[in-house]
Amino acid sequence: MSDSLLKRRLARLISTTGPIPVSTWMTEANAHYYAARDPFGEAGDFTTAPEISQMFGELIGLWLVDLWIRAGRPEGAALVELGPGRGTLAADALRAMRGAGLEPEVHFVEASPLLRSAQAERVPEAAWYNDVTTLPDDRPLLIVANEFFDALPIRQLVATRRGWHERLVAYADGAFVPVPGPLIPAPLAPAETGTIVETSPASASTVRELARRLAAQGGAALIADYGHVRSGIGETLQAVSSHGFADPWDEPGARDLTAHVDFEALCRAAEGQGVRLSGPRPQGEWLQAMGIDARAAALAGRAPDRSSEIEDARDRLVSPDRMGTLFKMLALTSPDWPEPEGFA
Ligand code: SAH
Repeated sequence: MSDSLLKRRLARLISTTGPIPVSTWMTEANAHYYAARDPFGEAGDFTTAPEISQMFGELIGLWLVDLWIRAGRPEGAALVELGPGRGTLAADALRAMRGAGLEPEVHFVEASPLLRSAQAERVPEAAWYNDVTTLPDDRPLLIVANEFFDALPIRQLVATRRGWHERLVAYADGAFVPVPGPLIPAPLAPAETGTIVETSPASASTVRELARRLAAQGGAALIADYGHVRSGIGETLQAVSSHGFADPWDEPGARDLTAHVDFEALCRAAEGQGVRLSGPRPQGEWLQAMGIDARAAALAGRAPDRSSEIEDARDRLVSPDRMGTLFKMLALTSPDWPEPEGFA
């Protein structure tokens, strides 16, 4: 489907059913966006941590295999990745895991047919799933999700002088525009007109399902993403195109729509399922606790001609003014498994 066909389809949907929730807008736009292109790298729209350096996936692989070893090397443990992109993180993690004596099955949760084929080139033995509910339920799961939750749909509430409304997307005079929908009768504290609150029911139900499975099946999950430690007010929905920000209400499906991850809401969703929560901890601190400095020095020692490139990649992942602080790591571990590394 072309970008303009999606635009016409959304315009028609709104004309027949009325304005749509922001979550529907984001679901439709991102399904189209990821199905139609490989967005990663210099020539694409954005660059993710595993595409910056092999060190990122390797340290995640070591984190997972270390837990598996200390849990007593349980049989049949499977590597699960949510939204594996080009499959780079999984390939790097698998190399590190195999080096430490684990040869796991690989299960990928991926919606995009185009990215599934990119993943198959790097990890041909993988099995694919549309969502987490159909993953194997009879074995420990070693789960990773990097920049997956920021792509899941959010809902927005907007305050007006009359109260709180769900924010909807309307279509008028050939353009998509956000508008306040019907009033929400719930007793929410009044706020200044234009204040936005975001929630992500899709993220909450995904984390709840992962937590339930870890408690029942054993294993661990590492969630890496950009976002905030505490739930709060404010709009974080953004469109990213050619490494810059764009209007999220224009050109649906042609740009990546993301929202900052609310780590407090993810923790709330996991609580009550019986898993241990560790973090969120800033990505830079976590990578340094996991030994990224020594790994960078070892790689540079073996390839002196690449040493400044390796140092720049390390700095980009770790520095507080680059990815080190905005990005965070949150771990969920089975109550029967040991405490994870990197969060002390
Ligand atoms: N983890 C990769 C890619 C991040 S981009 C990296 O770090 O490079 C987001 C990934 O999640 C893409 O692979 C995209 O196709 C996938 N994705 C987004 N929404 C999804 C959904 N609802 N279900 C399954 N996969 C989804």
